[in-house]
Amino acid sequence: MEDCIFCKIIAGDIPADIIYRDDNILAFRDISPLAPTHLLIIPVKHIESLTEMQDAEYPVIGAMVKTAGILAEEEGIAEKGYRLVINCGAQGGQQVPHLHMHLLGGRQLTDSLG
Ligand code: AMP
Repeated sequence: MEDCIFCKIIAGDIPADIIYRDDNILAFRDISPLAPTHLLIIPVKHIESLTEMQDAEYPVIGAMVKTAGILAEEEGIAEKGYRLVINCGAQGGQQVPHLHMHLLGGRQLTDSLG
């Protein structure tokens, strides 16, 4: 997707603080962190949102969750706890139309889900 900011990060066309990458997954630090650890975990394949997913694409969600767990360990937040969030669509608060999972931790998160 030519005009997708996350596809541009995957392609290396715009900079990001990338901390993990494999054939299917990329993870990088959120540019406006809401917690001491705030990572974004995304599929390399452009999938607009959860709503757009095809049946064959669901394994990437498991890979994203697995990567989140590994990165939480590496960030030193696994023991105290963290939060995974996927915003979907306008009312879900999704601003970037490329599927992504937020990994938040390093402080006490509130009970509010918005
Ligand atoms: P969402 O509201 O769920 O779509 O979250 C999009 C997230 O992407 C926000 O937390 C933004 O701060 C983050 N973001 C947008 N542009 C960039 C960028 N160039 N590098 C890193 N994070 C970004």
